[in-house]
Amino acid sequence: MGWAFKIPGLPHYVRNDVRVSLFFYERDIILNKIMATLKNIIAPSFCSSCKIFIETDFLCATCLALITPITTIKIPLTKKYQASLFAISDYQEPLRTLLLKKGHRNRLASEQLGNLLWQHSDVRYADFDIIVPVPLHWTKYAWRWFNQSEEIAHIMSKKSGKPVVHLLTRKRITATQAGLTRAKRLLNLQDAFVLSDNSQFYKYKKILLIDDVMTTGTTLQSCFKQLIKLSPLNLYGSVICRRL
Ligand SMILES: [Zn+2]
Repeated sequence: MGWAFKIPGLPHYVRNDVRVSLFFYERDIILNKIMATLKNIIAPSFCSSCKIFIETDFLCATCLALITPITTIKIPLTKKYQASLFAISDYQEPLRTLLLKKGHRNRLASEQLGNLLWQHSDVRYADFDIIVPVPLHWTKYAWRWFNQSEEIAHIMSKKSGKPVVHLLTRKRITATQAGLTRAKRLLNLQDAFVLSDNSQFYKYKKILLIDDVMTTGTTLQSCFKQLIKLSPLNLYGSVICRRL
């Protein structure tokens, strides 16, 4: 009669090969449960904001509920161009703390923010071809080994299947923007960014620009100003937080 596994609840006429595959199926479910339990013991997951224990995700329901959605705005650029700007929320908790984690050891925080951006903003409905992160000056990058915008861009790429292209370079070290008036911010960023590739290949592309936070929008505007030189078809921008 060959070999058979006795699986409770299965009638005797189920063929042996079906029984065997069901056996493996049930075994996998049990193994997965064991692995999940072990993972919670060895590396338990906590809410990234309030640190309470949670089983999945990275923010608990309470912290997620604190995030107030924000509307998509249009940034006017030239007569011909404007860019739609997506964001999760205002610059507030619990996002603020996560955004301040800007070291190379904080990749996970950026990844989580990227996932949140995809789930909680309209960027997932945008029709773009390529993703361009706002660059850091190379000295800053060498110091931190990390560019939050680039990490978020890679998550957008993973979600959308569209490539990240480093089309912009920061050629000047700019003074920190905080505390400057709008006019001074614009002056500070004047020609801070350049196109690193102006090939015809990028003509008529739909470009999504990624930064972590938008304050007055001068950084994004300076970047868009360069991207317009490529004659894109459409421009989008996306940030984690847009300051209100
Ligand atoms: Zn929480």
